[in-house]
Amino acid sequence: MKVFHGIMASPGIAAGKAYVFKQIKISIPEYNIASQDIEAEMSRFLEAVEKATFEVENIKLNIKGNMKNGQQELLDSHILMMNDPELKEKINSGLKNQKKNVEWILIQVIEDMIAQLKLSQDEYLNERSLDFRDMSNRILNQLLYFKQPSLSELDEPVIIVSHNLMPSDAIGMRKDMVKGIATDAGGKTSHTAILARSLEIPAVLGLMDISRYVKDGDDIIIDGNSGTVIVDPDKKTESGYRTTKKKWEKHEKDLLQLNRLAAETRDGKLINLEANIEIPEEVDSVIMHGADGVGLFRSEFLYIQPNKFPNEEEQYIAYKSVLQRLKGKTVTIRTLDLGGDKRVPGLNTIEENNPILGWRAIRFCLSRPDIFKTQLRALLRASIYGNLKVMFPMISGIEEVEHSFEIYEEAKAELKAKGIEYNENIPVGIMIEIPSAAVTTDILAKKVDFFSIGTNDLIQYTVAVDRGNERIAYLYEPFHPGVLRLIQLTIVNGHKQGIPVGMCGEMASDPLATVILIGMGLDEFSMSAISIPGIKRIIRSINVLDAEEVVGNIMEMRSYSEISEYVKKWMRNYFDFETY
Ligand code: PEP
Ligand code: MG
Repeated sequence: MKVFHGIMASPGIAAGKAYVFKQIKISIPEYNIASQDIEAEMSRFLEAVEKATFEVENIKLNIKGNMKNGQQELLDSHILMMNDPELKEKINSGLKNQKKNVEWILIQVIEDMIAQLKLSQDEYLNERSLDFRDMSNRILNQLLYFKQPSLSELDEPVIIVSHNLMPSDAIGMRKDMVKGIATDAGGKTSHTAILARSLEIPAVLGLMDISRYVKDGDDIIIDGNSGTVIVDPDKKTESGYRTTKKKWEKHEKDLLQLNRLAAETRDGKLINLEANIEIPEEVDSVIMHGADGVGLFRSEFLYIQPNKFPNEEEQYIAYKSVLQRLKGKTVTIRTLDLGGDKRVPGLNTIEENNPILGWRAIRFCLSRPDIFKTQLRALLRASIYGNLKVMFPMISGIEEVEHSFEIYEEAKAELKAKGIEYNENIPVGIMIEIPSAAVTTDILAKKVDFFSIGTNDLIQYTVAVDRGNERIAYLYEPFHPGVLRLIQLTIVNGHKQGIPVGMCGEMASDPLATVILIGMGLDEFSMSAISIPGIKRIIRSINVLDAEEVVGNIMEMRSYSEISEYVKKWMRNYFDFETY
């Protein structure tokens, strides 16, 4: 038995067999063939195409019923491309002219076809080059008897162990087959952690070297509540965890009783308690956990689906479905926040020395008005189906707000010219997640309808700690006096201008932070749906005056350790239940 300690990334307890997930780079052999071998090489190609087609048909069968928008069409298009007579013809003449092995010829043919697509300068056709690569990789894997692991093809329940899991791996995985996640890298606010929480999969990240230690099929326990992973547990530990799991599940079920009660403090202040979502499928969980609405829909996840680049119509359908299913509750959709660890092949995979400080979010959108406007039109069109709010991410100053509004107005004008209906009065707000924005909230508040504080990035940029770096995770501190001052300033400046201030970073779901945020006057909290009942219970037990007194005291303190010790002690005395 070996015990690993990491970062609690998503609560819950799971036990099962490990599946060690690694993407493997294949190298393509190149060798000469004789004229009489051409026919045999061509047969190898045709056989590989047949097997690859069978493989795709199988994927379709496996995920049937769980199919996301466009997935069916994508898989069908791969089958068509693989079996295209023109491709066969090109391979045949390549073999005859070059007399090289078929793997090598396939690569040349595909790269040639991609180069042709690129010449067209048509964005849609350019995007198809990814599909060509994907499709040819399937054939290559068959030719070389190589099986590239994919989390979309899991066919038994497993605990995933990996060095790092990219959001694109996680979004494509078969959620019904993943019982838990353990990775070497990543922090509590990395996007893999966020996704695990939203899918309600227990996860422990930042385990440093677990992926080197664990083998496929090892017995493994994930305790997302304490950040512990146990490999090859002994009988006693295993049965102890079974009991803890039952207790935890009961605790969660009890909390759900709070569903129908409002998030109201003891002295009657109503707080808006909303959910963060990454994909439209999460709406059921939002409703089940009693959220007042969606405070953050991370729309970029629509783009992170494997090989997906949603057009205006597909986005419109996704937004409309969320708005309709939430029946008049507010839905805050954040415009694309791509960049950092959220990369989409063919869109933003340029090499940058500092991607976290780089071409992200609103910066990306303002430099690609075509993509930005497509999303804005889809949002505007969907706005008539519910209570939509639009939010711009990673705003660093007033110019970006003004520039975003210009493009927003252009999108409106385009729809108006075509006589397409939309809501003229959608509240438009910004995320406060860069220190320069937080300290200029007095200026920004005059331009927007609301603020939402993104503490995941605000902490990262204030303390200069990469939120995904497990080595310096100890410095990533929401209670750093510098962070608390920026939050307080944002709330004060928002209120002075009469606009509501919310928080959609993970700090909003930290039970230790609730009393501080209530004391500072935060109006809205948005978090993973699973965290809502626990935070609601705390809000319902707090008196605003007491919370204000706590804030008065902690704002005099010098360090995060002093502040967290004080808050923990205060909570132990104040509540008659365990909150953390
Ligand atoms: C944040 O930065 O707090 C936030 C909510 O945005 P994201 O986690 O998607 O960067
Ligand atoms: Mg952010």
